[in-house]
Amino acid sequence: MRRKLAAGNWKMNGLAADLAELDAMKPAAATRQTDVLICTPATLISRAAEAVSGSAIAIGGQDCHVNASGAHTGDISAAMLADSGAGYVITGHSERRVDHGETDAVIAAKSEAGYANDLIAVICIGESLEEREGGQTLDVVGTQLKNSTPDAATGANTVIAYEPVWAIGTGKVPTLEQIAEVHDFIRAKLVERFGEDGNAFRVLYGGSVKPSNAQDIFAVSNVDGALVGGASLKASDFNAIIEAL
Ligand code: 13P
Repeated sequence: MRRKLAAGNWKMNGLAADLAELDAMKPAAATRQTDVLICTPATLISRAAEAVSGSAIAIGGQDCHVNASGAHTGDISAAMLADSGAGYVITGHSERRVDHGETDAVIAAKSEAGYANDLIAVICIGESLEEREGGQTLDVVGTQLKNSTPDAATGANTVIAYEPVWAIGTGKVPTLEQIAEVHDFIRAKLVERFGEDGNAFRVLYGGSVKPSNAQDIFAVSNVDGALVGGASLKASDFNAIIEAL
């Protein structure tokens, strides 16, 4: 059985005062047989890791550089994330694919940098609205999955997050049938490539997950949890999502 994962992505949000939200998430995280992860901005990782120490909450980064160190002003390596207390790193979020021109090959290399530092990579894939309307969803998701996921990926070191770009921060969510179609497709592709271990990868849904829709989404075939943006910032919302899992 795959262990479910409730993951939060704080994106470019979070100051020291917001660490209190992590504190308020501990009881919900403790009562569930699920993994709980919050990916804070890099500036907060050390303090967040300290704040959740001894609890069921893990801390992650939102990106890393492909290289271990060097002349890359402003960038952060996977070793630095791990050294700060992160256990996970998000790679290939659509905001990085779009804002920073990250390609599948770069995302695969970043994921490998994560593995080299014992970080679990949360590799994000998902189609744009134009691609969905053009009937290209499975083609796009299949290509991103194949090329962003390194050969060294396993169910233990990698989580896949399906995040339709048009559902992120918009309040629009695919139908449960649309979510099932893509998650079943991702599962089939993982098994085709990785054999039986393909069944061990957690596949998260992300895009406008809220307390009000979490339970329905979590009941969908091959949905092993969620990657949550806005609703992960406040314990009042995120606890309800953890409890729906
Ligand atoms: P929202 O939950 O705010 O739609 O963001 C989803 C997301 O991009 C998580 O990585």
